[in-house]
Formats: sequence, structure tokens, C-alpha cells
Amino acid sequence: MSREFFDFDTPDDAQIRTERAKARDLRKTRWWQQKTSSGKCYFCGKQSAFKDLTMDHLVPLARGGLSTKDNLVPCCKACNTKKKSMLPLEWEAYLEKM
Ligand SMILES: [Zn+2]
Repeated sequence: MSREFFDFDTPDDAQIRTERAKARDLRKTRWWQQKTSSGKCYFCGKQSAFKDLTMDHLVPLARGGLSTKDNLVPCCKACNTKKKSMLPLEWEAYLEKM
């Protein structure tokens, strides 16, 4: 797909659905297995069981992020919950403290 067709500021629902599906497919790949083999959370660095690691978009889909390998990181449950409850700015401040 050509990048010209993406509107990075306002992704529409169809695009977000496409990217979610891509992320689901990537979860099944060897690449993701390797990425999560250490069990380490990308954000806090703590080890978690594989089943407790979620796939997180560094740049959220709602902000124009894509399901590319460099935008997907393993994230533990604790960080995932925190991230969801925080505003993007609060989350960035939280990361800086770590
Ligand atoms: Zn974490």
C-alpha cells in the first residue's frame, strides 16, 4: 500500500481495523515470539509470562500509528493498564521517570 493514501492525522475506522488485523497476524509470527522470548516489558523492563505480555503500539493507531515491526513492542499488564488510564502526556511523563 502506498503511503500517500494515508492520512496520518485522522485515521478512519477502516484503517484502524486493518492495522489491528495486521497486529493480530504479527502476533503469530516468529518475529513476535523472538521479541517476547525474554519476557521483558518494553517500558518497565520487568519480566512477565508470555501470556501476560500484550502487544502495544508505540504510536497509537488512533494517532496514525501503524502495525509495523518498529511500532510494536511487548508490554506487561501493569504498564498496559496504566497506559490506558493515562492521557498521552501523562504516559510520556511516566516513561521519562523510568
Ligand atoms: Zn511493564
